[in-house]
Amino acid sequence: MTNHPHEELASNRRAFMKLASVAAAVPTAAALLGGALSGSAAAAEPDGLPDYAPVPSSAFGPALNEDGYFVGQIKDNLYWVTDSYYQAMFLTTRTGVVLVDAPPTIGHNLLRAIDKITKANGMPGKVTHLVYSHFHADHIGASSIFDKNVVRIGHTETCRLLRLAGDPNRPAPSVTFEDTYTLRVGGETLQLAHHGPNHTPDNIFIYAPDQATLMVVDVIFPGWVPFRNLAVSQDIPGWIKAHDIAMKYPWTTLVGGHLGRLGVRADGRLQKQYVDDLLTSARAATASVELTPFFEKYGPTGNGWAIFKHYYAAVTEATARPVIEKYTGVLAAADVFTYDNAAVMTESLRVDIGDLGPNGIRP
Ligand SMILES: [Zn+2]
Repeated sequence: MTNHPHEELASNRRAFMKLASVAAAVPTAAALLGGALSGSAAAAEPDGLPDYAPVPSSAFGPALNEDGYFVGQIKDNLYWVTDSYYQAMFLTTRTGVVLVDAPPTIGHNLLRAIDKITKANGMPGKVTHLVYSHFHADHIGASSIFDKNVVRIGHTETCRLLRLAGDPNRPAPSVTFEDTYTLRVGGETLQLAHHGPNHTPDNIFIYAPDQATLMVVDVIFPGWVPFRNLAVSQDIPGWIKAHDIAMKYPWTTLVGGHLGRLGVRADGRLQKQYVDDLLTSARAATASVELTPFFEKYGPTGNGWAIFKHYYAAVTEATARPVIEKYTGVLAAADVFTYDNAAVMTESLRVDIGDLGPNGIRP
């Protein structure tokens, strides 16, 4: 985590080239990666794409190896692996490996990483248990590369959603739970808990008590602003609350599931502040942006959707502007995804919280 920034940049460029070639060969990977890679593409190609503020070096993680991944020890028998866009976590035990998530962009490098570590620490290298953080394909879409005898563990809702999806790359879990589940394998422990819907209805918290490490995916993005549309979350109030739930665990290391580095508690506090600032700014914008000019422009044509499209764009713009200003240089890609995040926050303020601005009860 203390590599020279230039090395990190070079390694991230290498990772980008690797991922870009994967994306070209596999259409589904291209679809998954399209959004996440657009910022990198901007710098690489002189084709009119926008430039963005430099990514602070503190946002990058360790350099990748020549296979395009990094695997490192968190503490004792707990390890993490990243391709600098996605992350998985695994525990080596006396009886086999417990893996949490199988992101398809890391793919077979998961096996290489596990093999490398278990050969070095003398533990059995076979993955016996696979925990799903949530049902999304971009985090567990490589779970099919594991043996059909692997014990798959997930929330009951994960099971239901995966049965509905019928994706052969994401076999449904065979062991499910509702609220909490303690997984004990070969002397190691993971505590799984569902605290209600957030990013998805089934997203769980995975805590390794002996290593003071929490894995919760698509909630906190150490060093970066959340992925667009507040991490494409289905329940925004639930997603915001998930930050507080995460911070109540006594973790010292966070595995967020994305990008190239682990999180510390300051990352959690900083993202809470970003989300809080976004909500405060959304309230101010909703109170101040006038609806009248949009009615005057589009009202006479009877185009109600045009009125609201441009009114909400103005509210989103006013919400995003001060937040982009505050966080540029602090959180990576503040100028990339804050507008998209503001759009979802203003919408949630309107329909979830009920702050309707000029569209409240009237007359
Ligand atoms: Zn997700």
